[in-house]
Amino acid sequence: MKSPVRAWAASLAVLLLALSGEAQAWNVVMHEGRRHVPVEDVSKFYRLSGPVLNGPAFSLSAGGRSIRGRAGTREIHINNVKYILCFPAVQKGGSILLSAMDVTKIIEPVLRPGQIKNATPPRLVILDAGHGGHDSGAKGQRGIEKEAALDVVMRAKRLLEKNGYTVRLTRSSDVFIPLEKRAAFANRFPGSLFVSVHFNKSSSGAASGIETFALAPRGVPSMDEENFSYSDLKLHPGHAQDPENIALATALHSAMLRNLRLPDRGIKRARFVVIRDIRVPGVLLEGGFMNHPVDGRLIASPAYRDSFARAILEGVNRYRSALTGQAAAEPPPSAVASGTDRSSVPDLKARLSVSGVKPTLGEAVERTAEQWKAQKP
Ligand SMILES: [Zn+2]
Repeated sequence: MKSPVRAWAASLAVLLLALSGEAQAWNVVMHEGRRHVPVEDVSKFYRLSGPVLNGPAFSLSAGGRSIRGRAGTREIHINNVKYILCFPAVQKGGSILLSAMDVTKIIEPVLRPGQIKNATPPRLVILDAGHGGHDSGAKGQRGIEKEAALDVVMRAKRLLEKNGYTVRLTRSSDVFIPLEKRAAFANRFPGSLFVSVHFNKSSSGAASGIETFALAPRGVPSMDEENFSYSDLKLHPGHAQDPENIALATALHSAMLRNLRLPDRGIKRARFVVIRDIRVPGVLLEGGFMNHPVDGRLIASPAYRDSFARAILEGVNRYRSALTGQAAAEPPPSAVASGTDRSSVPDLKARLSVSGVKPTLGEAVERTAEQWKAQKP
């Protein structure tokens, strides 16, 4: 029989073995007062190959997972879905750098949604039809936003309920509800998800496509404002769900892309009240431009609205399965974990996963929640 001391020594030896040779130092580089890390480190940490560099462009990939971006821009593609980075990728000292904020707030939850702490696979969905009553929202030749949004929400409600979800609506008729009340309504249902449905309008009438908004993390400028402002540093209730927000945005946005087949305008960041003041994961969807000839015609058609509703169901399912699909805890990218905290000393030791790479949200698309559960040890 093993003595407790020997057992303890044995487990210590195993631990040391696991740590030795597996440590990855993140090469943190300060740029404009913010922590950045080279794409080489991102590649290593997530067990991707590359970077393949082509001038300012870089790409990392492995087994169906990929990250593609370009220095000097805020656009990045992760598993072929477009995201607008919190801060531009930069070329510095022979490397391309990504902000620590983007690694922790986009790349980590998107590549490893199952690692999101305390995330609950939802059974209750709150659908929020934008605008209503005297607030018509965007107007196009063939309709108005408040009506189209409500119709899509009613279709999505039926589909979600058929698939076992409970649904609550912020409005089910043509009434005006202040934004604060919509957020307060969502906060009555812990463990739920919040999906706000909108359509866009551009001043020129030329803009087309779909976009999804997730709450801008603390310290990140909102996409519609060029300059950093003091209010960007405020902490809001929605920030507690930063990882869930981006994972949910990913699931819904990619389902919209597939079902609606309009141009991909990307996953963006903003501080809209309905996604800022909620205590559950939430996103705001923009399903096309009311005043674009092609988008407007599609939005007016029942077939398109059905597809939009199906995309919502598919996205919620996908988010759910991504959360339930992973089991073992893996180390976070700890060197960069506090992207907004400029003064603290980063922990440079982050261990590569020894238990193998887990499926990503993109891969979750191909698998049902049942298959995932069956794979669990
Ligand atoms: Zn709107």
